[in-house]
Amino acid sequence: MMFRMNLIVSVFALLGYCATAQDRFLTLTGTVTDAHTGQGIPFASIYLRTGTSGTATNTVGEFVFKYRDANVTDTLLVSSIGYRPYRQPLQAIGKDIAIALEPAAVTLAGVTVTARTGLEILKEAVEKIPQNYDTTAVQYTAFYRENVWLDDFELTQAEAVLDIYRPFKAGKDLNEQIRLVKGRKKKMDYGREAQLYYWMNGTSNGARGSLSEDLVKYCRAKYSPLNPENYRYYNYTHTETIREGDRDLLVLDVTPRRKARKGYLRMRLFLDDATLAIVKYNFALTEAGIRRVSRKDKGLLFAIMSAVVHVSTEYHTFQYTVSYSNQNNKWYLNRVTRHWEILVDSKKRNWTDRLWRADMDLVMTDLRTDNVQPFTEGDIAGSQAPMHTMIASEYDAAFWENYNVLKTEDTAVQSAAPWPATDTIAVASARAASNRQNSFSRADTLRGKLTPLRTNYDVTFYHLDVAIDLDKRSVQGRSLIRFSARQPIARMQVDLYANMAIDSIVFRHQALRYSREFNAIFIDYPETIPVGTEAEVTIYYNGVPKTPDRSIPMDGGVLWDKDSLGNMWAQVVCQGSGASLWWPNKDHQSDEPDSMKIWITVPAPYTEISNGRLQRTTPLPGNRMRYEWYVSYPINNYNVTFNIGQYAHFEDRYISDDTLTLDYYVMSYNLERGRQIFKQVHLMLKTFEKNFGKYPFKRDGFTLVESLYPMEHQSGVCIGKITPQSSTGTNRLLWHESAHEWWGNALTAKDIADMWIHEGFATYAEILVIEDRFGTEHVQEALDDQMNAVMGNEPVIGVYDVNHIHYDIGDMYSKGSLLLHTFRSVLHNDTLWVNLLRAIQQKFRYQTLTTDDLVAFINDRTRTDYTYLFDQYLRYTNLPKLAVVLKQKEEYLEVTYAWQADVKNFRMPVRVTTAPEKMGFIYPTTRPKTMVLKNMSVEEFDVDTDNFYIDVHVE
Ligand SMILES: [Zn+2]
Repeated sequence: MMFRMNLIVSVFALLGYCATAQDRFLTLTGTVTDAHTGQGIPFASIYLRTGTSGTATNTVGEFVFKYRDANVTDTLLVSSIGYRPYRQPLQAIGKDIAIALEPAAVTLAGVTVTARTGLEILKEAVEKIPQNYDTTAVQYTAFYRENVWLDDFELTQAEAVLDIYRPFKAGKDLNEQIRLVKGRKKKMDYGREAQLYYWMNGTSNGARGSLSEDLVKYCRAKYSPLNPENYRYYNYTHTETIREGDRDLLVLDVTPRRKARKGYLRMRLFLDDATLAIVKYNFALTEAGIRRVSRKDKGLLFAIMSAVVHVSTEYHTFQYTVSYSNQNNKWYLNRVTRHWEILVDSKKRNWTDRLWRADMDLVMTDLRTDNVQPFTEGDIAGSQAPMHTMIASEYDAAFWENYNVLKTEDTAVQSAAPWPATDTIAVASARAASNRQNSFSRADTLRGKLTPLRTNYDVTFYHLDVAIDLDKRSVQGRSLIRFSARQPIARMQVDLYANMAIDSIVFRHQALRYSREFNAIFIDYPETIPVGTEAEVTIYYNGVPKTPDRSIPMDGGVLWDKDSLGNMWAQVVCQGSGASLWWPNKDHQSDEPDSMKIWITVPAPYTEISNGRLQRTTPLPGNRMRYEWYVSYPINNYNVTFNIGQYAHFEDRYISDDTLTLDYYVMSYNLERGRQIFKQVHLMLKTFEKNFGKYPFKRDGFTLVESLYPMEHQSGVCIGKITPQSSTGTNRLLWHESAHEWWGNALTAKDIADMWIHEGFATYAEILVIEDRFGTEHVQEALDDQMNAVMGNEPVIGVYDVNHIHYDIGDMYSKGSLLLHTFRSVLHNDTLWVNLLRAIQQKFRYQTLTTDDLVAFINDRTRTDYTYLFDQYLRYTNLPKLAVVLKQKEEYLEVTYAWQADVKNFRMPVRVTTAPEKMGFIYPTTRPKTMVLKNMSVEEFDVDTDNFYIDVHVE
């Protein structure tokens, strides 16, 4: 399963904060200029004295401001740092105004002699954040605009009114929510370069990105100069004090220290002298910062660009401005602008240094502080998609009348012509409370525990034979279970969801008695079946299987949809909820049949794809076709699937030392795109076979299926829908779901609590593909993304014996993968690492296992006890923290270090700077150790947090 893809949901609910119908809006347009130079003043705030709505000037000093006619008696205020504010009653102003601001007299820095250093001022400012800023949750209405160009060719122009819910806490679970009230975008004609421009036209969720530049809220962000961890990288200098209206502002310049490897920013902060509130800052990336960003952000995307669309890029400029506004003596985020420039070369096109640039602007136009509540739907903050793809763009003049927007500099944009409608994307946040704390029910135990009524038999074979009615959305048929008696059996448990009806249960031509409790069936045999007997029982059943509730992690069901041509399209996805939601079986991961027949009957025009090989199709009365699939290997229950649709099929072969058949099924209209996408399968399989060993299901072949939802269905891997965006030759979903053939399918966790064994390894497999195809230098970006994704709310391992699925499962992907990368860094020997991965596959292939089994095997193979390491990452939420104390003693640096961790005796080796520009291992324990490094300074000391996913505290 691909966790991050569960964000795509039906229809976007438009539940904006709306002006009431009787509100009439008046429009004031104008310019704000410097009274002396006549230059436009960007960033000036335009607002009403009593109101909480406002706007800002654009980069050339122009603005449009809309206010309710009820406010006509209010006073207009215009302010900008370094200028005296402007005040005028609205009634004294016409519809258009030119405002010239007088520069405020500058006080010489020498005059305000204080005993405080720049760093002391900053520390105090950070301390006073809770007093100076509203730290309760607030809601904003905001205006967002995004423009992207290649030289003067416009790639994107999109704007949106957003509702933003913003708690102040920086904890990842209490973060911003963003709801799209209305958006519009310009329809672009990309002509022959469509593929390239498609790649270049977006930046990942720019509204969310803008909010994350708020370094007051996120002062402890990893690279923030406001974070005490980074003080040693910068000089903080109080350069001058300037006057803004009736306020004195301290100007603090933040510049990297000479040898600081992590001096990523240059920054200028403006702080209110009286309160030390940070009211504005600008920052730009230094060369080191640009290198860092280009490694992180640019990495994969740009590697793909060079491979697929044949361009190379060089990061050039990154500039940001963030300002705050004051309401009732509290400060609030007001505006964030971001600008970047990248140089693009393409030999193929004869391009040198073409300028690819983007501007993103977020302006808060309305503020609400009373009784604000999180949004219950429509939150797009979790989506990585570019804003313009989230905008459904029907133009609605009446709507835009009532909202404050940022005046655009390009008059062409203001054309009243409706912007054509394009695709609507809808996103919902899936966040349901964990049941880890709320205890579990008897139903959970019945579902998740291996009781004697389950361990008394071992399933050796299933034959599922069902007909699916697409109109009624129902399933009817039988499930034959062949089993071997491990204990004498008088009674056994089989599982089928309570909403599915049982017609009869037949054993040796005899109907059996049974009872049902929640989703369990208890079958009673007329006489005890002796140990060692192989027997078959058949359950005839029918019903309408459940559909998934996307607000609950791992809630499965049948998806019923239509393809782009309006044909029916259906798929079952049941990992977590369990296969028993649609067919009777022993629904526990510990027991897999040795083989299985899957017969699915569907209406004739449709194709049906399940797992294994299609042995034959049998026409049946009523214009129906039975698809008869056979899986010749063990298969776990949740992998058993059907996909019903109007599919096109094509084949390929993967030849290494033998031949593997490749079968591809895509929607008929995606045949060409499918051919493009699946070209990468050979390289991907090569990477996987190199790292994990031979493809585990050779007899059944390797099949990829375009599907409604991506899922690792064994030898019939579902990769989700193919869209124009996925046609560019890479697809992490494809890599991820395919990697599950090794991790999850060939070996399976006995209990779903250990599902990290599936997801952690499959997620790390994505990194291995990136490493092989794009080079190690691109790995860091993907790792950084994973680091950002970790929530740390709950341990990765769930509760055993209760089929624990309702919790924050995201960490088993990201943190699971980072654990593996960290462990690989600890080994520091890729031969050993790959041999270990292959050995794990060999040892547990076609079997089920637990975390303990896996760790014991790793310990045995490496002859080292790493239990402490896996325990800390998997069973606790805290990362191990390396506490470091640095003392400079002339040219010597004294380094004292120790681990702080939940696991006693945590002792993971880690790499740090042991000499200038040189990394080496240290072997910290939970008791402090000290080393002395020659010719090293405090700024030069660094811990390899790229490759070791740990917390570091340096004093
Ligand atoms: Zn997965």
